[in-house]
Amino acid sequence: MDRRPGTGRGPAAGGGGSSARRAAARAEKDAVRRVARSRRPRRGARFPLTLTLSKAKAITSAAICVALLGGMFGLGWFFGVQSTHFHGKILLVNDSHRLEADYVPEGLVNLYNQRHSFRLASSEIYLARECYEPMEQMFHAAEVADMNGYIVTSGYRSYERQAEVYAESDPDKAQEPGASEHQTGLAFDVTVETSEGFESTPQYAWLQQHAHEYGFIQRYPANKAEETGISYEPWHYRYVGKQAATQIWEQDITLEAFLGESK
Ligand SMILES: [Zn+2]
Repeated sequence: MDRRPGTGRGPAAGGGGSSARRAAARAEKDAVRRVARSRRPRRGARFPLTLTLSKAKAITSAAICVALLGGMFGLGWFFGVQSTHFHGKILLVNDSHRLEADYVPEGLVNLYNQRHSFRLASSEIYLARECYEPMEQMFHAAEVADMNGYIVTSGYRSYERQAEVYAESDPDKAQEPGASEHQTGLAFDVTVETSEGFESTPQYAWLQQHAHEYGFIQRYPANKAEETGISYEPWHYRYVGKQAATQIWEQDITLEAFLGESK
């Protein structure tokens, strides 16, 4: 094969006459370049200060925006605001405030793999880290106060899993998919070994007194079904953060009433 330049396929196909045309084109290009070069300094001289200032302003504002946004996200992450708050408000999930099928909370952790001062009904119970951390602090404090035996039976439930639970349950006893707080990853069910019902145990009484100190509320209190749409569930706790939990506890109200929203 002959690989000498000019003899293969390609530009040589143009024939002999093309070299003159190429020279003319080159000369024209050089002339254009010379004109462009001679104009450039003049153009630059007319607006140099304005250009530099507006560019500097743009860069500074962009940098400030990036820093502010970064700071907000950083703070949100640090205080765990990302998932408790949704569209600027505490995440409310009930029959009329439903989650999308693809809503999955950030930072789910398997409780079995985390330090836990409570027992687990299964090795596959997940919660958002934002909820797990204060929950562990709470049950650790309970343990220190000689309050033991808590068993966490349920945590995060995906939309699909909730659909299965709903299909398997009495419709009055389970939420439709999207309407369950368990999809938030911020709620868990807890009980103890008892033959009388969790609500009659000292462990329940301890939670009633102290859960708000760790940012938890008893989400479905007795006699508040007309507000929450759900009858008494002594075992179901929801993380809303210390401030909201304390106000809700002190005023003895529901999350719906606290947020001024419907069930
Ligand atoms: Zn529950």
